[in-house]
Amino acid sequence: MKNKSYVDVLIVGAGISGIGSAVHLCNQLPTKSFVVLEAFKTFGGTWHMHTYPGIRSDSDLYTFGYRFKPWTGAPIATAAQIMKYMGEVIDEHGLAKHIRYQHKITGASWSSADNLWTVDVLRTDTNEKVQYTTNFLWMGQGYYKHSQGYTPEWPGMDKYKGRIVHPQTWSNDIDYKDKNVLVIGSGATTATIVPAMAADCKHITVLQRSPTYFWTGRNANDLADTLRQLEINEEWIHEIVRRKVLFDQQAVTKLASEEPEFLKKTLIDNVRSLLDPDYDVDKHFTPKYRPWQQRLAFVPDGDLFAGIKSGKASMVTDEIESFTENGVLLKSGEEIGADLIITATGFNLSVLGEIPFVVDGKAVDFAQTVTYRGMMFTGVPNMAWVFGYFRASWTLRVDLMGDFICRLLQHMDETHSHKVTPQLRPQDAEMPIGSWMDPENFNPNYLMRSQHLMPKRGNVSEWQHNQDYWVEREILPTASLVDGCLTYS
Ligand SMILES: Cc1cc2nc3c(=O)[nH]c(=O)nc-3n(C[C@H](O)[C@H](O)[C@H](O)COP(=O)(O)OP(=O)(O)OC[C@H]3O[C@@H](n4cnc5c(N)ncnc54)[C@H](O)[C@@H]3O)c2cc1C
Repeated sequence: MKNKSYVDVLIVGAGISGIGSAVHLCNQLPTKSFVVLEAFKTFGGTWHMHTYPGIRSDSDLYTFGYRFKPWTGAPIATAAQIMKYMGEVIDEHGLAKHIRYQHKITGASWSSADNLWTVDVLRTDTNEKVQYTTNFLWMGQGYYKHSQGYTPEWPGMDKYKGRIVHPQTWSNDIDYKDKNVLVIGSGATTATIVPAMAADCKHITVLQRSPTYFWTGRNANDLADTLRQLEINEEWIHEIVRRKVLFDQQAVTKLASEEPEFLKKTLIDNVRSLLDPDYDVDKHFTPKYRPWQQRLAFVPDGDLFAGIKSGKASMVTDEIESFTENGVLLKSGEEIGADLIITATGFNLSVLGEIPFVVDGKAVDFAQTVTYRGMMFTGVPNMAWVFGYFRASWTLRVDLMGDFICRLLQHMDETHSHKVTPQLRPQDAEMPIGSWMDPENFNPNYLMRSQHLMPKRGNVSEWQHNQDYWVEREILPTASLVDGCLTYS
């Protein structure tokens, strides 16, 4: 084991969360020493590792981009464009010297005697084991397992003669030219991969158990285009367009809770207008849940529906009875033949990257903790997890949390505190404790499958991840650091 290196703050992950957090730390607390430890060979996280055809964002980059760096392209961006943007952020803020690639964290242990985390790291380039010590762990390791996507077990999968691939582990040798392809699942990944592959396949079929909401629009922002024509500078355009996008999204979010039936009809009527008049929209595009109980999948320029209209792509709403040698047999008795099957069936949720955490010799079970504002956890000192929004761009929370964590670190310096631990207050003793997210509010399958592993939430804003960006942007900047929820020593 090499000598331990000490840094004031250790940031985990060089994805959109870790890089954004590093910029906020540099800008707001420039005297703090820090490193960013990243398991992959490069930055980008989600945008580096997903390589399936068409890979793109589903939120607009005016809000998925950071507040401090203008986005100048079309609102929906490819992974390559996001990588370029992140690369520029790293250059502009001189972050490269702080990032250690191929450094995979394998354990983290807190000592209250020393007020330090000791972080075990495997260098995957040299196979060396190294250690870092730090006073504060800033976790940006994401929320899903990077090694493997979620594929259900269906009977007979071993009999199928073709290739089964999950989009998360797409590889360039997958040949789909003039092939019959079956995509299982109908979320945002399907909405991306199907239009990107349709032209080259013989036919591409989407098999879904139940429909998803889609919304469509031009991949352009009229306001941004107008402001550019007027030669307004990009900083201003970024700020103005962000405000407009957020204003419009807030209106949709409000509509989803106050007039869900109206929103549902609007979304479905829009899909109907993009398909042939006799298309069975009720069967294939009318979900059972309320809009926004799961993420709304955006289809730029309606490209998914153009594929269906052209006959190159088709939808099947049914359930799988079993796999066969040549494809899948459905409960209805129909068989879909396929040369390639893509299981766009979602993620495996990952709690703190499954890194074993120990506090003063005792293993932490995060399911037994309660979250402080969806970022820290009762009984776990000096650690925060950047967990973004489901209904708004993830990065909006990276920025808000960046301010909050820097304010907290500064408060600790000013009060000569070395340790901050969330702890339920006497008045919270009888507080009802529930799962991380209320399923009535938001219930995507990956969350429902693994929610029992997640930290718990209480019934007041201090003790929950408030998924409402518009509320949090009011609360977080001035949230008291001495309200009794955070204890210092
Ligand atoms: C295909 C796809 C499209 C998406 N589109 C959008 C969108 O348009 N808008 C939106 O808001 N959200 C979107 N999301 C959600 C998206 O994951 C987040 O918005 C965001 O990219 C997450 O960033 P992150 O940095 O927190 O995590 P990640 O992107 O997952 O990055 C985490 C990083 O931490 C590293 N890491 C993990 N564990 C360790 C360890 N033990 N040691 C060292 N390093 C480690 C990983 O290697 C990785 O680089 C999308 C997700 C997917 C999969």
